[in-house]
Amino acid sequence: MTPICLVGIGKIATDQHVPAINASPDWDLAATVSRTGTIDGVQAFTDFDQMLAETDIPVISLCLPPVPRYAYAAKAIAAGRHVMLEKPPGATLAEVHALADMARAAGVTLFTTWHSRMAPGVAPAKAWLADKQVTGVQITWKEDVRRWHPGQDWVFAPAGMGVFDPGINALSIITEILPMPIHLQAAELLFPSNCDTPIAAQMRWTENVIAEFDWRQEGPQSWDITVQTDAGGISLHDGGSRLVIDGAPQDVGPEREYPALYDRMADLVKDGVSDVDIGPMIHVADAMALGQRVTGEAFYL
Ligand code: NAP
Repeated sequence: MTPICLVGIGKIATDQHVPAINASPDWDLAATVSRTGTIDGVQAFTDFDQMLAETDIPVISLCLPPVPRYAYAAKAIAAGRHVMLEKPPGATLAEVHALADMARAAGVTLFTTWHSRMAPGVAPAKAWLADKQVTGVQITWKEDVRRWHPGQDWVFAPAGMGVFDPGINALSIITEILPMPIHLQAAELLFPSNCDTPIAAQMRWTENVIAEFDWRQEGPQSWDITVQTDAGGISLHDGGSRLVIDGAPQDVGPEREYPALYDRMADLVKDGVSDVDIGPMIHVADAMALGQRVTGEAFYL
């Protein structure tokens, strides 16, 4: 088993990364770095530089929010470590390009993970769509930010991405499954008067692709993508864990997004290659560049 260090022991680290690593035959959770969080039985550092100086753990998985992540990734690569990045892989596109260049020069693996692409309906949806002519796509991604991100003020701070923090999961799926390129044509972004990031967004791309994102959805939550083609239609539900083809629910197997990410990282390190994809981030950057900004009432987590 390969030793791995987990950095940023917050919500996603404890919900998903730790169970995935512990269940994997490939990885040994050898250390954590966090100002406050620890994992029982695992060596805990509060300082990243100290961990790099005092251990030779070859793989670092960064579960921090996007803004602080770049500096950690750059230091890890400079120290010759392989790096796995939570989504989104950076606060800006340029940061990710820079990290990719550094990883290439250092000869280490960089993996920009997109967990929703590992949802069990995604690969079969991509295979089904591969030889079809897509005529329209609708994304409906509506959830309750207070339920899923309690106390996480960084989501409304600059570069926190706002509703695109979950919305980029939908974008990671469409950039994986659609058999043709698309680019954004229009967007409307709703910014609460006290926030630096949008709480809702509507987007329209070429090829008749539209999306509605909203972080104020109470009651039932919606993580749905429907695709019409010249030969029938499909829909993905619950973030890609359920797939329906021409009205017929498909058996796509169990959800194992994070175990699949760690399987992939093991393969990348073994093969000495990187997997860097900024595709989903391009659509968020385009929305910020192109979108009409509307200011709404103040919002508090
Ligand atoms: P979080 O719990 O708010 O933060 C994760 C950890 O990052 C915190 O425990 C904190 O560690 C550390 N951290 C926060 N700000 C920092 C700073 N300025 N400098 C250094 N460390 C800092 O966030 P999360 O929900 O786990 O999300 C982290 C990433 O995972 C995000 O990019 C998010 O998009 C992604 N993600 C989240 C979810 C989810 O459901 N929450 C799902 C999938 C992906 P210490 O204070 O302990 O040092």
